[in-house]
Amino acid sequence: MQWSSVPGLASLLDLLCPARCAFCGAEDATGRPPVCVACARVLSAGSARCTGCGEPRHDGRCRRGYRGDGIVVLSDYVDEVRTAVLRAKRPSGESLAAGLGTLLATKHRDVLAGWRLDTVVPVPMHWLRRMGRGTSAADEIAAGVARALAVPRRRLLRRGRRTPRQNEVPAEGRAANVRGAFRRRGDGAGRRILLVDDVCTTGATLAECRRILVEAGAAAVYAAVIARADGRLPDDHDPP
Ligand SMILES: [Zn+2]
Ligand SMILES: [Zn+2]
Repeated sequence: MQWSSVPGLASLLDLLCPARCAFCGAEDATGRPPVCVACARVLSAGSARCTGCGEPRHDGRCRRGYRGDGIVVLSDYVDEVRTAVLRAKRPSGESLAAGLGTLLATKHRDVLAGWRLDTVVPVPMHWLRRMGRGTSAADEIAAGVARALAVPRRRLLRRGRRTPRQNEVPAEGRAANVRGAFRRRGDGAGRRILLVDDVCTTGATLAECRRILVEAGAAAVYAAVIARADGRLPDDHDPP
């Protein structure tokens, strides 16, 4: 029996430990953490973007940006979203990261359903870096997305080598920086995969991950990111 099915117990638990928004800390009357309704609205209010390439919406065919089967973006890498992403990377940011994942999946529910996904794959962080931080935002975001889509999350990729952080590398050098950085660690053959990361700028990391998964026989590789940073990458951005 679930505790929520016991009459009165759910509301008693709410009284004892009220649900708090993982972003603003406010008590959430709806009892639907991790992010309150007001924050959900703010964090999801990004510009409309092409689900082919992730660039601001344009007419006709995709010309720029990430070239995969498709990409959905929760918001732009500015203001509260940037604050939320940076906080989600901290060891204490797991529930916020998962909450952002839920918002991402909710905002694009119809598009994601149309992609007929069967696997959610986080962009991996090198184990050394992960050990130092104790968490990986991409992993937790992927968990939130996977739960919302009712699709399993599988870590089908790993980092084969440490690379300089993408924000330490000029935009034109980023593809070379991550080339060969990833390895397969599971069977992706025939799968329809959603790659998940926190922030995408040039798309080089997603493209390299996609290349490995396609080589492994994936049927399709889509992508989902919390934020798309346009133009110059802010100095505080620190991809895995
Ligand atoms: Zn809030
Ligand atoms: Zn496009």
